[in-house]
Amino acid sequence: MPLADLKKKILEVFPNAEIARTFLMKQNIRLEEEYGFIPENTHFAEGGCSDEINEYEYLMMEQYWGERFKFGGLAGYCHAGKTGLEAVSHHVPEIAGKKNLLFLTGAHIGFQDGQWGKLTRQGQPEATSSCGSLATVLQADFEKVLTSQNNPLDQQQQMVERIMIPYIQKCLDEGEIPNLLDATKHMMQRIDADLLTMITDLITRFDGQVAMITGITINTDLGNFFSPSTVKILLR
Ligand SMILES: [Zn+2]
Repeated sequence: MPLADLKKKILEVFPNAEIARTFLMKQNIRLEEEYGFIPENTHFAEGGCSDEINEYEYLMMEQYWGERFKFGGLAGYCHAGKTGLEAVSHHVPEIAGKKNLLFLTGAHIGFQDGQWGKLTRQGQPEATSSCGSLATVLQADFEKVLTSQNNPLDQQQQMVERIMIPYIQKCLDEGEIPNLLDATKHMMQRIDADLLTMITDLITRFDGQVAMITGITINTDLGNFFSPSTVKILLR
């Protein structure tokens, strides 16, 4: 599918989506020109899904800002929690009394041949799920999810399951089949809400600017797109 057609199809579902690398590079320039974020006084933290499919942009951001603290994990949820965010807030370089933190994260979903949630990865014969963590929750026996015991060997996935329970319950109540697109949007809302709560708490102790950029990364065979959800600067 040509890029223009692909973009048109993505915009039908995510009207504000852009090519991920250009969107993020524009944010970097805006952060510098409007807010004085430069690599020397900024620390970059990323909370995306462990899936390497999102790495291209995260590596680009790491190269741009000079380092990367990772606070995410499965499905792009902020699994490192308050302790992780507190830790990165102590790693921020300062120049002439100015220091900045940049948080970037979000859920992700594949899109291929008009189908959401699937993507054929390089060198693989068949499409696989993206996000695999979210897809696994939707495929699981919901009764088992509701009654599952704490498993120390699967903590992140169990957290993703807990986050998805209200969405799956709503589908059951309304007689709808859960789908990955709506599940991704549900996950995105929860990432936004929890990250904002944590950052709002963090800035009471952080004497600098905090940029929060979140959104859904759309993985396609022509690269990643990004549909921004929250783009804001927080100050004490
Ligand atoms: Zn994932």
